[in-house]
Amino acid sequence: MRVVVDVAGSNPEEGNRLEQDPRVGSELLCVVRAVLKKIGRKVLVGDRVLVGSVDWVDRRGMIEDTFMRKTELSDPPIANVDHLLVLFSLEQPRAEPFNLTRFLVEAESVEIPVTLALNKMELVGEEMLSSWETKLHSWGYKPLFCSVDRNLGLEALENILKGQTTVIVGPSGVGKSSLINALRSAPDTSDGEEIDKLQVSWHKWLGDQRVGIVSKRSGEESTPRGFLADTPGFNQPNLLKVTKKSLAQTFPEIRQMLSASEPSGCAFNDCLHVGEPGCVVKGDWERYPYYLQLLDEIKIREEIQ
Ligand code: GDP
Ligand code: ZN
Repeated sequence: MRVVVDVAGSNPEEGNRLEQDPRVGSELLCVVRAVLKKIGRKVLVGDRVLVGSVDWVDRRGMIEDTFMRKTELSDPPIANVDHLLVLFSLEQPRAEPFNLTRFLVEAESVEIPVTLALNKMELVGEEMLSSWETKLHSWGYKPLFCSVDRNLGLEALENILKGQTTVIVGPSGVGKSSLINALRSAPDTSDGEEIDKLQVSWHKWLGDQRVGIVSKRSGEESTPRGFLADTPGFNQPNLLKVTKKSLAQTFPEIRQMLSASEPSGCAFNDCLHVGEPGCVVKGDWERYPYYLQLLDEIKIREEIQ
């Protein structure tokens, strides 16, 4: 039997049929066919793969081929990611605006949609919540507040994650693993030790082809209709892929000012928005000093290189 493994939920019409099939959401442990390794083909988490030799009783199979990737992140290596979730906690550890900005800049630089969620909401009062909300609105974000501990706000989060391949980023201690554990429902059947074994979970049926997602390899977890991966590599955003010129595009505030001034925009094509004549980016917004600080950091790095 040959089956196709795909990222979750790309065709909503398949949904109903899917939910009725008991094998949907189940997982297979797969080995990668030797010939793929021989030609240097890597199977990444998030990959669509062709699976053969499926044994439903023992839940095993063999990955015979991989398909073209929509996107590919290198750090962490994940294919077909279509959403980034930046997770911070309000307390323990307390969200700090400049550090949060670094994470947001790193996430925005990947050029896929970013959602911001703030965990441990039960540790702060109403006033603090609304002041964060106001602040983050002014940054151009609509934050989701949650508490994994108290099971608050998780439904809204789950709805956003549904059907997408999401990478979760944030400092340690904010509750990333707790969130993943709270949202996952498939039992963990992998032995986790054998590095060439990948977990494959089924997400939908296409004709007689079974469609799922490569979902587990040391620390990544799946949810039934979405895919959430943790990212040790993102813990210390180094912004190495952000350039002097691209930095501005990672700030929603600047994107907004630029698009409001279209079609003219800044007078200089290579404007860095640091007070050049004819610049349409004013300095009267909260994160402008952060923008300048990060710009300096990037300039120094680019000069050294
Ligand atoms: P990670 O390093 O981001 O993966 O964070 P963990 O999931 O390991 O969580 C760090 C600590 O925060 C653990 O002790 C969790 O129990 C705790 N934690 C997670 N969510 C919440 C929450 O909503 N409220 C509180 N008070 N603690 C939480
Ligand atoms: Zn400018």
